[in-house]
Formats: sequence, structure tokens, C-alpha cells
Amino acid sequence: MIRVENLLYSYANQGVPALKNISFKVNDQEIFGFLGPSGAGKSTTQKVMTGILKNYQGSVTLKGREVNNFNKQFYENIGVAFEFPNLYLKFTALENLALFASFYTCEKYDFQELLSRVGLWEDRNLPVEAFSKGMRMRLNFIRAILHKPKLLFLDEPTSGLDPSNSRMLKDFILELRDNGTTIFLTTHNMTDADELCDRVAFMIDGQLPVIDSPEKLKLQHGRKTLKIRYKADMQLETKEFSLHGLGSNNEFLQLINHNEIETIHTQEATLEDIFLAVTGKQLS
Ligand code: ADP
Repeated sequence: MIRVENLLYSYANQGVPALKNISFKVNDQEIFGFLGPSGAGKSTTQKVMTGILKNYQGSVTLKGREVNNFNKQFYENIGVAFEFPNLYLKFTALENLALFASFYTCEKYDFQELLSRVGLWEDRNLPVEAFSKGMRMRLNFIRAILHKPKLLFLDEPTSGLDPSNSRMLKDFILELRDNGTTIFLTTHNMTDADELCDRVAFMIDGQLPVIDSPEKLKLQHGRKTLKIRYKADMQLETKEFSLHGLGSNNEFLQLINHNEIETIHTQEATLEDIFLAVTGKQLS
């Protein structure tokens, strides 16, 4: 669905390009995560892909069509929810949805269904300026999908949400994917990425050194370990061992034979650990 080849983008006032020849593909009906620290080039990529930044080099095609040649009709297929909600603050939630819906000619979701789904039906007649950050994020999300786009761009969709609304939104995103939507997600939240993404790309300094599924990255780079908490001289101590060769690891065997064990857990490398191992940089 999306094909990006040798994309190079430089801002007019910057010496170093923000995107340095990046290439990747996003398949139909997949959630593709773009992960990287602040300033890596994630928003710039998203702005090129949504037709906001036009004078790029290389090629960016959505369904075979170069984004520079988009016409108005093409935007009916695309939904965009960037991190800072672009809503009209003096308008109510319902008025915002009605206004944005008027931009599209295609079939739309029922507003009541959408507002109820994200827990905002009771607040539908309040001006958005009275909404908390989390309420604005939820409204901004349904604003982006109300015209049933085939391709959805999301930027930090769970930012500012409490755990239960974050769960609700993530389930909603997965359901959209299962029903046929292709989703391009930028985030520096590794837990979200791990839970949601079919594949992730690591972005650093305008380049993409790694693209793979979270599972494969963990298999490739993750070192499974066992964390053990035990009492020694009345003190609680913690030690970590590699699972490899554990049965013949004398230090481990001594420890479990001679100490009172409090807890033992195996642990996998997180995407955050892998990002650091691969790029040498912290995510945030
Ligand atoms: P991210 O979304 O990963 O935080 P950005 O795409 O916003 O990264 O930024 C990538 C690089 O481009 C950074 O070095 C940033 O300073 C620069 N940049 C972003 N927007 C502009 C702009 N409007 N003008 C000049 N430089 C910019």
C-alpha cells in the first residue's frame, strides 16, 4: 500500500537533511510503527507521506500514486491524528465532528456510535475548550476515522490517556486493523509499539537502521535472562543470570542451594532494550 524509496528531505534553513535516503514498505492491513527519539525525523516522514511537505527527493507512493500528485478525492482515503489535536475549541464535540465530516463525500460512521465508543457521548454538547487533554485526544481520534479511511496516520495516540482509556483506544486501533485499515503509527512508547505493531522501524538521525516484527527483533537481539531475588545476611539482593547454560552455572546453583529465595522471574528483552542495543541511543 505504501512504498517509500530513497526519500530525502531537507528543511530550507537546515544544513543536514532531516531524512537521509530512507526506504520502507507498509503492507495492506498492517500496523507499521515508526519508533525513535525526539528529532529523529518521524514527524517529517509523516508530513511527507500525508502530502504536507512536498519538495522531497525520492519516491513516496500510496496505492501506486506519488503523494505529490494527490488530488482532493484521494484524501477521502486517509485519516490523520497528530499528537496535538487540531480541533475547534469554541465548537462542541458534536459540532467539530459535523464540521470535519462535511469535508468528505464518502460514507461515515454514526457520530453517536463513535462518541459512545470513546466515552464522550455525555459530553457531546460541551465546547472542546472545556475538555481535558485526554478527552481531546479521544475526540481527535474519532475525528480522524469518522470517514472510514483505508489508511490511518497516528502520532502518539495514547499520549495523555489514563490506563483504561489507553486500553480502550488500543483495542479500537487493533479492531480497525482487523477490519481492513492500514495504520502508520509514530511513537516513542515502546509498550504501545510492542502491543500494537505488526512491524516496527527504528528511526535515528533521519535513517532507518532496522525494520522487523517485534517478535523477530526479540529473537534476534533479545537475551533471555532470569532475575532472582534472595535473602543474604538478612538483606534482600537481586541477581540476573542468562538462561543459556543455567543448569551448569555454578554461581546460580550455589545461590539457590544456600539462600532463601524470594522470587524468580524470566525476562525478555524489551523493544526499548533492543533499540538501545542496536542504535546505541536511548529512546527518550
Ligand atoms: P521527530 O518527529 O522524530 O521528533 P522531526 O521530524 O520533527 O523529528 O525532526 C527531524 C529533524 O528536522 C530535527 O532535526 C528537527 O530539528 C528538524 N525540523 C523539524 N521541523 C523543522 C522545521 N519546520 N524547520 C526546520 N527544521 C525542522
